[in-house]
Amino acid sequence: MCRWLRLTSSPTAIEVAVNAPRAPLMPLDDALARLLAHINPLTGTESVATFDADGRVLARDIVSDLQVPAFDNSAMDGYAVRSADVAAPGSVLRVTQRIAAGHTGQALQAGEAARIFTGAPVPPGADAVVMQEEAEVLAAPADGVPQVRLSSAVRAGQWVRRSGEDVTRGTTVLAAGLRLGPAELGLAASLGLSHLPVAPRPRVALFSTGDELVMPGDVPPEALPPGAIYNSNRFFLKALLHRMGCEVSDLGIVPDQRDATVAALKTAADHHDLILTSGGVSVGEEDHVKPAVQALGQLDLWQISMKPGKPLAYGHVRRSTQPGLAHFVGLPGNPVSSYITFLLMVRPLLLQLQGASRLMVPSLQLPAHFDWPKGDKRREFLRVRRNDQGGLDLFPNQSSGVLTSVAWGDGVVDNPAGQTIAHGDVVRFLPFAEWLS
Ligand code: AMP
Ligand code: MG
Repeated sequence: MCRWLRLTSSPTAIEVAVNAPRAPLMPLDDALARLLAHINPLTGTESVATFDADGRVLARDIVSDLQVPAFDNSAMDGYAVRSADVAAPGSVLRVTQRIAAGHTGQALQAGEAARIFTGAPVPPGADAVVMQEEAEVLAAPADGVPQVRLSSAVRAGQWVRRSGEDVTRGTTVLAAGLRLGPAELGLAASLGLSHLPVAPRPRVALFSTGDELVMPGDVPPEALPPGAIYNSNRFFLKALLHRMGCEVSDLGIVPDQRDATVAALKTAADHHDLILTSGGVSVGEEDHVKPAVQALGQLDLWQISMKPGKPLAYGHVRRSTQPGLAHFVGLPGNPVSSYITFLLMVRPLLLQLQGASRLMVPSLQLPAHFDWPKGDKRREFLRVRRNDQGGLDLFPNQSSGVLTSVAWGDGVVDNPAGQTIAHGDVVRFLPFAEWLS
């Protein structure tokens, strides 16, 4: 028999499914709070090269040991002067020295100017810089010392970058819990830091469940057996995990069998902080994840008031060769459900594991350029795209299996349960770019 076509529904199972009482759906915020209540930050701190710290979470406050800039320096190519010497336009000064970036000058005497370049230290005695566009070099007089005429009056402090105006010694420049990005790495480097203390990377074991799944490359599209589909979740989940700074062990596809699922979980628990699966967490009799996790630990199956998404499994698996537990999250199999649930639930979990202080993404209030006449009884996350008019267009097919909607969209509208939307209504937009950064 083809392994993708299994006729397993027994009348008893159907009866059970129909008669099972429906538990009320759990609000998404409650589910997230419950999930996060289980997540303690990973212990330990790593020191990584500042070059390699992009995307990592800072484990300790960074307090500056120095002023940035460390010395008063010129913001322009021009002339360093004593402002008292240039109270009126047309003042003429003797140019007694030349200071390039990386070099220092001598104390400036009354009536003198120093030729100076951007970033060079302002010499003692000087308190202002005149940009070269406002200076006219005069023919050298008999003593050979060049002179310069300055076309405008000078204000003390002009074009001088003050020591400490960027960072003052002793201040906390980067706070523990901050997720580092390119600007933060540059700032850390400006303080002289070649290494940074960061939280360990979460170690995540990833596997997909489903007998229908085949891997791209294993079977060409024209030879795809009836009932088979390509495994798409594995690809985006792996990429999403990498973006969240995780070390990923890809355990592949686990067949819809309890023994195989138990074996995969056992392997996964030992060296990982989180086991992440997709599929097999609905309440069908082909959904083996729940009993398998329960055999090795504990699991709750939540029905969350969200669309796409709804079923989500959270639990833990005991380690067999080491002390401790691995967290377990079972995402729904439908690709859009899996994707959105990852962003809304797994992303904050991974950030909390790393001790990040900001778990949520900022939203924008934007006008809907579409109608949504029938609000669902679950909170919806509608795939939309920003348009040139400053509004949001809706992807026409909002089904949870249509991955095109996520690739096309650049975010979702977070639409409260039961809410209809009329063209022009201002809605809450969550951009994918924020989630993926
Ligand atoms: P399940 O949650 O296992 O009942 O799966 C729900 C739907 O998602 C089914 O149509 C599956 O074929 C599909 N599905 C499950 N896992 C994947 C996957 N890794 N890639 C693409 N589709 C999947
Ligand atoms: Mg399945």
